[in-house]
Order: sequence, then C-alpha cells, then structure tokens
Amino acid sequence: MILILESNTSQQDEDYKQLVTFLAGLEGIQTRVHIERGTEQVLTEIYLIGNTKMLEVEDMLALPCVERVVRVSEEYRILGRHKDDPRPSHFEYKGVRFGQDTLNVFAGLCAVSNAQHVEGMLKALRDNGQVCTRMGAYKPRTSPYAFQGHGKNCLPMVFDLAGKYGIKVIAMEITHESHLHEIQEALHQTGSPTGVMLQIGTRNTQNFELLKIVGRQQEFPVLLKRGFGITLDESLNAAEYLASEGNRNVVFGLRGMKTNMGDPHRNFVDFAHVPVVKRLTRMPVCIDPSHSVGSRQASPDGILDVMHVTAQGVLAGANMVLVDFHPEPSRALVDGPQALLIKELPYFLEDVQIAREAYLKRVALQEKFAAS
Ligand code: PEP
Ligand code: MN
Repeated sequence: MILILESNTSQQDEDYKQLVTFLAGLEGIQTRVHIERGTEQVLTEIYLIGNTKMLEVEDMLALPCVERVVRVSEEYRILGRHKDDPRPSHFEYKGVRFGQDTLNVFAGLCAVSNAQHVEGMLKALRDNGQVCTRMGAYKPRTSPYAFQGHGKNCLPMVFDLAGKYGIKVIAMEITHESHLHEIQEALHQTGSPTGVMLQIGTRNTQNFELLKIVGRQQEFPVLLKRGFGITLDESLNAAEYLASEGNRNVVFGLRGMKTNMGDPHRNFVDFAHVPVVKRLTRMPVCIDPSHSVGSRQASPDGILDVMHVTAQGVLAGANMVLVDFHPEPSRALVDGPQALLIKELPYFLEDVQIAREAYLKRVALQEKFAAS
C-alpha cells in the first residue's frame, strides 16, 4: 500500500510526526519513505510493506497529511501501474522529458573510437536538432580479447564535445560501481557540460548488486535493458530493484531476445512488448533496433530491417530509440556492421517521425471510437 502525502509535507510538521508514530505502531507493517523533489514541489510517498490486507483504505485516508491511498498488487510495487494510481509516468532530466507520452531518439556510437568520430557524430546530431546520444566507454564483450572500450580515459573528451554541441543526455553503459564514480569525476572535472543516463546492459540485467548501487544514486536516470534470456517478469523485477533502492527514474529497454527462432536477425525482435511494458508499469519504454537486428540488411522495398523494426516499435508507442550510427562503420571498434551512416541520420529521423505521427493518429482514432 502507498500513502501519497499532501504536496510539500515536511518531515518537521507535527502532522507528519503524528502519522509516522501511528504507522510505527502498526504490527507487522514496515514503512519506507520516498521523497521526490521536483522543481515546484516536494512529494512524499510512504510505502507500507507487510500484511497490508488488514488495513482499510478509508482509515488510511483519514490519517494526517495523507492525500491518496493506493493499494498495490504485490508486483513491481514502485514502478508498477496499479489500479487508480495517480503517480506520474514521466520524469525530467537536464530539461528533457522522459515519459510514456514522449519520444526521444538516442542515436550515437556503440563504442567511443576516437575524438574525430565522436565529434563527427555529435555535430551531425546538433545539425539535426538532437539533444541526446549514446556513447559507449565500457563495453562488455563476449571475447576477453576483444576491445573493451576506452573506459575513463575517453570521458572528458566525450563530455566536453557533448557540451560543445548542445547534447544534454548521453546513454552510457556501466558494468561496475567504479564506472559510476569515474563518470561522476569526469563530469566534475569538465564542469558538467552534459548529462548521463546510466545504461545497464542485457548481460547485467540480473546483476543485483550493481542494480542496488545504481539504484542508490539519484543523480543519473537509468536505462535498464531487458535480459536477453530471462522472462519479462524477471527483467521488470530487475527494474524494480533500482526503484526499491531509491531511483525511480528508470527507462525500460527492449533489445531483442536470444534465440535462433529470430534468425537471421541477431536477436528475436521483441517490440510487440512495448505496449505490454507500458500497461504493466509506469516506465517509459525504449527500443534498440541495432542490437535486435544486428545488420544492415534491407527488404525488397529498399528499407533497412533496422528502420523497419524501429518504425514498428514507434508505431506501438515506444518512448525512446537507442540506435547505433557511425561516421566510418568500417573503422568502428564495436558493432560497425549494424551501424547506420551519418548521411542516413536525417532520413532515419524523418522515418521515425512518420511512425510517431501514425502512432498519435492511432491513439486519436481509439479515443474517437471509445467516445462513440
Ligand atoms: C549496447 O547498447 O551497446 C549493448 C551492448 O546493448 P545490450 O546490453 O542490449 O547488448
Ligand atoms: Mn553494440
């Protein structure tokens, strides 16, 4: 059960103290307080954990400071979408809104190669009105002999250039706690010219200790990729780990599932689950067409499979697209064969726009039908 308190309730208020004292006296019930500091108001939610079945919603509503009461199902308590649940399904970071109603494209390098490639990519993004990108510094690789990413050494260069080209958010995978500190330090050192969305890759979806560490910080939002060989429920619980530790600014990423049933794509494209995740949770949903498809193959209509599946995901209501581009794919250190070309960026963005408009028309059509 969640008690949503009146906005701007302070922990110093007498009413608040009374409430806390009352809750502490409830047998078999533990409480966890979550405070969300927005630009205009402070929202406090108190999670009641334990045998809440015996509690009546009306009784809880009568308590001091309590504005609303939500009875949550056992699953995904914080990130889940519960009945009569007024909590928002969006957050803001660096002035960019991430919600179940928005769409942000994160085009960029799978892995940072050199400053020239980074600059070429960022300049193209700025020239095409983009404020987000992806740049990998820490790359988990199948072979221990493969390039592992430039790590902390490339961070100041990437952050400085991002600032130069007005990029506000960089999606960047981390695989270890030390990477979080290295990113914080590099941002500090460069005067925070940009922001970072920490990415948990599919190989780490159930790295619970990493999830707890990333969940405990609230400086950076998190993109959690679905685990490629586990159930959707297991991946959604992994996202809930982040939230249960305190960070609920989480985007859930679909990136294809590992099975040969999807051949010849690198992974079986799972973007049919975009609306499913939006129904089960309040998280914005990201699609990663590059790591799903894994090649530059095109169908007889001339359209690349990467672009077809992007359109399919956006048409289904996706909120973020994470996609590999590269100024010189033949010289990319990771995943060159699946990268789109810089000259394809405006074409790609226009194609995404077509799919987005079609999605919005579909929503309007549904509303008209429901009203009739
Ligand atoms: C990536 O986005 O660079 C990546 C490695 O993705 P995933 O974890 O989905 O394989
Ligand atoms: Mn990759």
